[in-house]
Amino acid sequence: MSELIKNFFKELTPYPPGKPIEELEREYGIKGSIKLASNENPLGPSPKAVSAIKQSLNKINRYPDSSAYYLKNRLAEKFSLPMAHIILGNGSDEIIKLATHAFVSPGDEVIIPFPTFLMYEKNTQSFQGELIKIPLKDFYVDLNSILNAISEKTKIIFLNNPNNPTGTALNINEISHFLEVIPEKIIIVLDEAYIEFATSENIKSAIQFLESYPNVIILRTFSKLYGLAGLRIGYGFASKHIIKLLTLLQQPFSTNYIAQVGALAALSDEGFVKKTLALITEGLNFIYSQLDSMDLTYISTQTNFLMIKTPIGSEETYKRMLKEGVIIRSMEDFGIKDFIRVNIGLPEENERFIRTLKKILS
Ligand SMILES: *Cc1c(COP(=O)(O)O)cnc(C)c1O
Repeated sequence: MSELIKNFFKELTPYPPGKPIEELEREYGIKGSIKLASNENPLGPSPKAVSAIKQSLNKINRYPDSSAYYLKNRLAEKFSLPMAHIILGNGSDEIIKLATHAFVSPGDEVIIPFPTFLMYEKNTQSFQGELIKIPLKDFYVDLNSILNAISEKTKIIFLNNPNNPTGTALNINEISHFLEVIPEKIIIVLDEAYIEFATSENIKSAIQFLESYPNVIILRTFSKLYGLAGLRIGYGFASKHIIKLLTLLQQPFSTNYIAQVGALAALSDEGFVKKTLALITEGLNFIYSQLDSMDLTYISTQTNFLMIKTPIGSEETYKRMLKEGVIIRSMEDFGIKDFIRVNIGLPEENERFIRTLKKILS
């Protein structure tokens, strides 16, 4: 059996998902746990999405529309782009995979900042690309060092803006300058999974650059702002040519019917979006002020999560919080031994997080 297994499997590390609440409660025999580990929407799913999905359930005997006409049409309208510039995916994770599949051959180089979202690394390994990891500088993506790392073999540069797990973001001028100097034969994947949460005036989507730069792929998701992580649907924008290539690699029905219906309804759920953004702002302000009064260091964020420095180490903090029924993320896997990552929850969840943090640190 072992001789059947391709060599590159040795390099593959499993993606560590946030611990599910049910698993924690089973293992520790506790109840009433909370999860602030996967940057999910604490308000639940968009109610408009839920209602549309309920009404569509009696149609799941049919295959979905593989062109997802209505959803793409709505996205095209919302972002003022032709439909041919839009792709949907089974989560934006799938589009990350398609891009890597399309452009990376064994031995090609892929540049990523480090730490960043783990899926860029995983997919590069799966397609046997060489990863070039460029360390962050003071927790910010270091574009100059990324530029210097470009070689003849560079095929893709992945940028997550704002960046997971740090919550820091590049401003639109930095992105503009970067795109200007990158050779056109290098694909830039700009993952904007959290861009809707950004509050700084200069942190905004790079959509405006799509027309000038046919090598840019922009990724978005319904998983965070719209609260549809379990539905598995994300979307991307790029040149017609790239969208065509990625679509060729895709299974015809990778975004299912219910996901298409839910996502379409969520796009017009402005009340839910407003409520979510207000909740995150309010929660962040609460957490910032509490951390200040506890004299803890944290990294100001442009997202719905933040990194906090802990005096007892990342892993120890994670374990002690788990025992108290609060699931967060240790940053140890990212090589950051003294920070945790936590996402903003409901007000009572944020209070519980702070209360528990005080308890385990005292
Ligand atoms: C959550 C997240 C996504 C979204 O992934 P989906 O597959 O759409 O759920 C993409 N990129 C980053 C950086 C994320 O944190």
